[in-house]
Amino acid sequence: MSATAPHVLIVGAGTGGLCLAHGLRRAGISVAVYERYRTRGEGLLGYRVGIGPTGSRALRECLPPELFDIYLATCARSPRWFNVITQRMRRTASFELRPDTHPVDTERSVARMTLRQVLLTGMEDVVHFDKTFTHYEQRDDGTVTAYFADGTSAGGDLLVAADGTHSAVRRQYLPHAVTRDAGTINIATRIPLTEHTRALLPERLQRGISLIFGTGGMMGVLHVMDFKWDAEGRLKPGVSEADAALLSRWSGRAHDPTRDNINLVVWSAARRFPSDVMQRRGDELVQVALDLTGNWHPRLRELLMRGDPASALPIRVSTSEPVPQWKSSTVTLLGDAIHTMTPGRGVGANTALRDAVLLCRQLRLATAGEKTLLQAVADYETEMVPYGFARVADSLNRSGTNGDDRMYKPVVGRLALLGARGYFGVTSRVPRLRRNFVNDFYTYRGEED
Ligand SMILES: Cc1cc2nc3c(=O)[nH]c(=O)nc-3n(C[C@H](O)[C@H](O)[C@H](O)COP(=O)(O)OP(=O)(O)OC[C@H]3O[C@@H](n4cnc5c(N)ncnc54)[C@H](O)[C@@H]3O)c2cc1C
Repeated sequence: MSATAPHVLIVGAGTGGLCLAHGLRRAGISVAVYERYRTRGEGLLGYRVGIGPTGSRALRECLPPELFDIYLATCARSPRWFNVITQRMRRTASFELRPDTHPVDTERSVARMTLRQVLLTGMEDVVHFDKTFTHYEQRDDGTVTAYFADGTSAGGDLLVAADGTHSAVRRQYLPHAVTRDAGTINIATRIPLTEHTRALLPERLQRGISLIFGTGGMMGVLHVMDFKWDAEGRLKPGVSEADAALLSRWSGRAHDPTRDNINLVVWSAARRFPSDVMQRRGDELVQVALDLTGNWHPRLRELLMRGDPASALPIRVSTSEPVPQWKSSTVTLLGDAIHTMTPGRGVGANTALRDAVLLCRQLRLATAGEKTLLQAVADYETEMVPYGFARVADSLNRSGTNGDDRMYKPVVGRLALLGARGYFGVTSRVPRLRRNFVNDFYTYRGEED
């Protein structure tokens, strides 16, 4: 293998790994992805992911142009409002978001399964399923070999860990880089969007992202996911001709069971949940959510009751402990594998995509002979490590995703709740603060750091 034409091994066919694989393939760089799931429809943690300008920009750069257009066409209707409500559905604040007329400078509501099917499109020869990575060996000739649980192995010039929060690559490569429990648990539920369930929500909640600041340290977020296809998978009336043409010839549609739905996620400090919550599923898990939200508005509780029990999912929130930059080699990491962050700022996937495009650019330079492969990896890590851990830190202190948040303390919790509601109320009413809030929502601070 020549030093200027590397073969790249990626462990993990998640958001970051697949985006990188597309970017490398477009650049003519040989790449193979190894994924532990047995099929393209298995697994997934949660249902909705918000992709902002950072993520969409990365996808635009890495995906073939038609696939980027398919990504846009498969997003749910973009949120027009960012709402903050009480557990009784009283509006604390409401911020108008940008219209979705621009392909990247907007907030996109994406179904995780749909995004995965988009990213797998055209990659059938690159992605190898049912390959659970176990360990690797770095060889004296500069190559690296990845080993899998089925006894097989694969060799290349660079191994990229894109294997998420519990990364087996990271465990071997940087054993001191650990994640810890952030101290909160989420229960994610998915409710079919019907005329009845839609009517349970006021207009701005139907068209927005709604953060629920409840009393007693119970938090929630609600998203309405309205797609261009109906319950039978047929295109809805009113879909533009261009989108209809794209969606009709998109092969990934056959693999995507996603339909219109409402995502309602509730969370709180882990100590408030029954000790076996992570083992509970179905009705038993929905019951936990109902027990914890006894004082919520009957309409919100009706949504929980109308959810598909099979879709209820417990998620224990983790966060990475920052580590100083290490000496670069033929193994590197991206996304949650190196900087797992709480959902507090909703930027984990966006940051994984940012990593992917940055690493891709560096590997293009190495392939063009402008720097060595090791220099490219080092330059990527020098840029990624500071912003990655900065996002970890600022995510931890947002939206009560940290179990130590004052919101969860018995007495000061009430004051913290009043403070948070007051902050959103004032910010939404003062034009300059409102503008700054909305701009920050799109750019997330430190994008240029
Ligand atoms: C409740 C919740 C809400 C969130 N909302 C948002 C949001 O709105 N916006 C946002 O930007 N981020 C959000 N995030 C964060 C986001 O989901 C993650 O940061 C993002 O998915 C990370 O992408 P990744 O590619 O690094 O890892 P993943 O997408 O997790 O992919 C890792 C892949 O590696 C595979 N894998 C793991 N181990 C192995 C192995 N040993 N061998 C082979 N394959 C393996 C996995 O099966 C998986 O496919 C949210 C997270 C949570 C928990």
